[in-house]
Amino acid sequence: MEHKLPELPFAKESLAPHISKETLDYHYGKHHAVYVANLNKLIVGTEYEPLTLEQIVKKAMGGIFNNAAQNWNHTFYWNSISPKGGGEPKGDLLAAINKSFGSFAQFKEKFTAAAIALFGSGWVWLIKNPDGGLAIEISSNAGTPIKEGKAAILTCDVWEHAYYIDYRNARAAYLEAFFKIVNWDFAAANLK
Ligand code: MN
Repeated sequence: MEHKLPELPFAKESLAPHISKETLDYHYGKHHAVYVANLNKLIVGTEYEPLTLEQIVKKAMGGIFNNAAQNWNHTFYWNSISPKGGGEPKGDLLAAINKSFGSFAQFKEKFTAAAIALFGSGWVWLIKNPDGGLAIEISSNAGTPIKEGKAAILTCDVWEHAYYIDYRNARAAYLEAFFKIVNWDFAAANLK
């Protein structure tokens, strides 16, 4: 099957000043689009051709895994941010965060510290373990929790291409911006 670049769930200029249209022109229009194009080229004539994106992520290794997982991760990231985002989580999600991290402030601090400490390119995730508890995980490069059967709740892309135009090397400033547009409604839906 042919994989398609999904529509962004917001207008490219709508996340400014936190994430600029220029960043999205490159990050979505070039980086994400190229992962999709590469995946379509790489699967031709292979056992992966008839599989869904998630099936490919779970099964493939090497270049096919990298491009499939980056496609899945980016779509998940676009949904993890919103022009209507920010603030604090509510309801069941807040209760789950309080239970696993002590408080929302402690969760935010831990998530930010994990993102800053991640060496090189990768992703920071809020995931749900099989016992229902929440945890923060990092993945390098195209790594993704769904490869290990874990439920992703929220992610932040910390590849330099996600923030270099707007924040240069200041990853911490990008994380502050991320929390101003973080989509708690999406995270709450994933918790169910
Ligand atoms: Mn990216």
